[in-house]
Amino acid sequence: MQTSAISIQDLRAGLKGQVIGPGDADFDEARTVFVGGIDRRPAVIARPADAADVARVVTTAREKGAELAVRSGGHSSLGHSVSEGGVVVDLHDMRALEIDTEARTAWAETGLTAGEYTVAAGANGLATGFGDTASVGIGGITLGGGVGYLVRKFGLTIDDLLAADVVTAAGEIIQVDEESHPDLFWAIRGGGGNFGVATRFKFRLHEVPAAVGGMLLLPATPETITGFIAESEAAPEELSTIANIMPAPPMPFVPEEHHGKMVIMGLLCYAGDAEAGERALAPFRALAEPLVDMVRPISYPEMYPPEMEEYHPMAAGRTMFLDTVDQTVAETMLERLEASDAFMRVVQIRALGGAMARVPADATAFAHRSSRLMTNLAAVFMQPEARETYEAWVGDFAAALRQNDAGAYVNFLNSEGPDGVRTAYPGSTWDRLTAIKNQYDPTNLFRLNQNIPPA
Ligand SMILES: Cc1cc2nc3c(=O)[nH]c(=O)nc-3n(C[C@H](O)[C@H](O)[C@H](O)COP(=O)(O)OP(=O)(O)OC[C@H]3O[C@@H](n4cnc5c(N)ncnc54)[C@H](O)[C@@H]3O)c2cc1C
Repeated sequence: MQTSAISIQDLRAGLKGQVIGPGDADFDEARTVFVGGIDRRPAVIARPADAADVARVVTTAREKGAELAVRSGGHSSLGHSVSEGGVVVDLHDMRALEIDTEARTAWAETGLTAGEYTVAAGANGLATGFGDTASVGIGGITLGGGVGYLVRKFGLTIDDLLAADVVTAAGEIIQVDEESHPDLFWAIRGGGGNFGVATRFKFRLHEVPAAVGGMLLLPATPETITGFIAESEAAPEELSTIANIMPAPPMPFVPEEHHGKMVIMGLLCYAGDAEAGERALAPFRALAEPLVDMVRPISYPEMYPPEMEEYHPMAAGRTMFLDTVDQTVAETMLERLEASDAFMRVVQIRALGGAMARVPADATAFAHRSSRLMTNLAAVFMQPEARETYEAWVGDFAAALRQNDAGAYVNFLNSEGPDGVRTAYPGSTWDRLTAIKNQYDPTNLFRLNQNIPPA
């Protein structure tokens, strides 16, 4: 890496925004990402003030041959948003949000988190769907697709993306939408950060004046697991669920006698009024006597509770789509979870369908429109040297569960490597993406990601 070639002074002089170097007091904080166990020291971290600043940093990195990392919320599972010895474009200070309540659209700079956007939009009774976690950046989640609490009602985050400002590898600032650079607009809806730095997104907003949601903790048995998934698939589209099958955490809201026992920590969100929501949720409550029931009428932003600061977990993970969760699959899940000693281990299942599935598979770079159950396996651990053990555990577990759907969601890929990236972009999606990569980033400047190399 040509780190010595980057002059912090020159960069500082050329930018309106901040430039943080290894000698600065806030360097350690600025290079820390969400995932634990990542200890990379970039040569410089730039915090641009606007798209022109971003273009300057991109141009500098390209000209100096430095590795370039792009950071929105810093939640990449592999720490892709920090470079060892290279340049980081950290969008932290670009958080402007303009909401047009009449047109029901919003222009959002990509330093915003999903939570910040959701709270601001929610103040107007409006929402765009992101994921399940407030601190995830709108940059990374949107570019990969975006699967959250409104996925069945309104689709993926990219299904509400109307336009974006992008800084290309050449340092140009372009606006892309269905009419202008439609190829690039197609590629950034699912293709990740491979094609440039998105500095601003224009989203569609939906009216979500009321919701019913929260956490429902049920005992996990093969019957409750299969029942939970069947009810999730059969539910009205207003309801999106996330089933976390795991040992009950020793949290204050969980009665002590259940700590460590297998539970379904269900996160449910009904985007609609209280009465209809209660009706949609009744079948879940009937699966078993709930151990904890925190589902109640809420405002939609309340789906994002406060998070623990300074939480930087190390995790081994695998992602896949399942076609079905029957008794045998549920038994396998429980057996494998019981067999691990990871500090926390989980099978997470999200029933898809609804609005997401009505978008044609080739309309965006997210091709998995007919996939049914997005499933993640994870082991969270505290000791870096335990990684190998838990990587083997998730790898074997994934192999035991694998069904016909061979695809994967790019934003939940972990250490699957280039083969994993191919599963995210099957067939003609891959061909189209690599051709667009050729055109917009022929030298693969944007490679610190789940990478789509030029053809
Ligand atoms: C706790 C947790 C919960 C999650 N829950 C969900 C969920 O419910 N649904 C879901 O769909 N996903 C979820 N994810 C996955 C998440 O969407 C991805 O990890 C996403 O990439 C994180 O985005 P970020 O901006 O925070 O991360 P970053 O680490 O900043 O970026 C991730 C990748 O995107 C690139 N990137 C980021 N911003 C830009 C930009 N503006 N322009 C170009 N490239 C950019 C980066 O270079 C990097 O390669 C979750 C992840 C975590 C850690």
